[in-house]
Amino acid sequence: MVITRFAPSPTGYLHIGGLRTALFSYLWAKKNNGKFFLRIEDTDKARNSLEAAEAIVKAFEWLGLAHDGEILYQSNRDEIYAKYIQQLLDEGKAYYCYMSKEELSQLRETQMAAKERTMYNGKYRDFDGTPPEGIEPAIRIKAPQSGTITVKDGVKGDVVFNALDILDDFIIARADGSPTYNFVVAVDDALMGVNEVIRGDDHLSNTPKQIIVYEALGFELPKFYHVPMIHNHEGKKLSKRDGATDVMEYKEMGYTPEALLNFLVRLGWSHGDQEIFSMEEMIELFNPKDINKSASIYNTDKLDWLNAHYIKNTPNAKLAELLTQYNLILTSHDKKEILLDVVKERAKTLKEMRGLINEILIAPISYDENAVKKAFKGEAVEVLKAFKEKVNASDELHLPSDYHTVMENVVNEMGIGFGKIGQPLRIALLGKLSGPGLDSVMAIIGKDETMLRIQNAITAHA
Ligand code: GLU
Repeated sequence: MVITRFAPSPTGYLHIGGLRTALFSYLWAKKNNGKFFLRIEDTDKARNSLEAAEAIVKAFEWLGLAHDGEILYQSNRDEIYAKYIQQLLDEGKAYYCYMSKEELSQLRETQMAAKERTMYNGKYRDFDGTPPEGIEPAIRIKAPQSGTITVKDGVKGDVVFNALDILDDFIIARADGSPTYNFVVAVDDALMGVNEVIRGDDHLSNTPKQIIVYEALGFELPKFYHVPMIHNHEGKKLSKRDGATDVMEYKEMGYTPEALLNFLVRLGWSHGDQEIFSMEEMIELFNPKDINKSASIYNTDKLDWLNAHYIKNTPNAKLAELLTQYNLILTSHDKKEILLDVVKERAKTLKEMRGLINEILIAPISYDENAVKKAFKGEAVEVLKAFKEKVNASDELHLPSDYHTVMENVVNEMGIGFGKIGQPLRIALLGKLSGPGLDSVMAIIGKDETMLRIQNAITAHA
């Protein structure tokens, strides 16, 4: 069975780079009828917070990415880590190191002065004398002192690390007893049965250390996939300046989970030239062996395009429900079908959609003066008056086509072009010359509101 996981450190919000590897892990587990676990890596008490962990869980809920089983919190697992550390001590695969802070920094300085790699010198590796007094020892693992460690990576191929260049007997438990990052990641992945690790390639250099832990504890190695970073247009690592990176900000900006996930799946993975993927398709088609070897480029236009696509294809009832998250309640609006049909074609985000809806529902409080100059020439006021009278006299005004007929009657009777009524009417209804079809606008706001807006414009411009 394929078991994957997402293992964020709750130091802040959920980053979209993290979400992308989470999505890959999720898809791969689902595709194989496997399991996708969520593990919160909260051992760093100074940098982690409960709020950040909760924010991550919230983001997952919003996106509809369900994890299997309980969420595992590393902060609850000290006893488990202690047990495995003890095992390594008992087996002589780890040892107490009594080097003081001062001694360690002295060693560093000497190595730096000699332009050598800074590393532990193995002083206590085979120590069997009497430990120095007054020093709480750290615990170090015995790393290989020669040879190589190969990460068999599903994206990058075999990545060979020379033991001499990268390894030393790294600390697995600090003097205060707290276990270190690479140790707990390896222990947890092994105990959770994670056999496919998909994560950012910023973790590649940690992997040989984790492999040492796996091997020392006799755990089977998982398959690794290290996914190249997401870059901005300048080829640099994505940062706040390139737009939002906090997943929940995408929600605030009015992106749908479908669009965001579709956008992310294409950052670093492709299937021919297909751009639109439903969740079912992603699950069916995703395979980590197709992850690109080079960094992917973040492109906001693409995200907007996808979001517009999903908005256009979302049923109105669902859109109305989504819009409540943006404080727009349409449930009791009798023409909400027409309204949503009109705006869903025009909006790139749900927030933009809310703006377009308000532009229709709320009478203009001012008029675009340049547009007024253009539209209120000649007989504009007469035309509006004639139109208003006809609207007033009609009993059956419901659909856009009903209003369209009235407009047609006016232009025919007055012998004018459609623009002569369209432009001033547009100003009257919306305050400006752009916007959706007027017949739809009138059907949405209804007969009384239509007449009121026309009267207001006449009063203002007569
Ligand atoms: N906790 C790590 C992070 O947030 C991820 C560890 C992993 O995926 O192995 O970057």
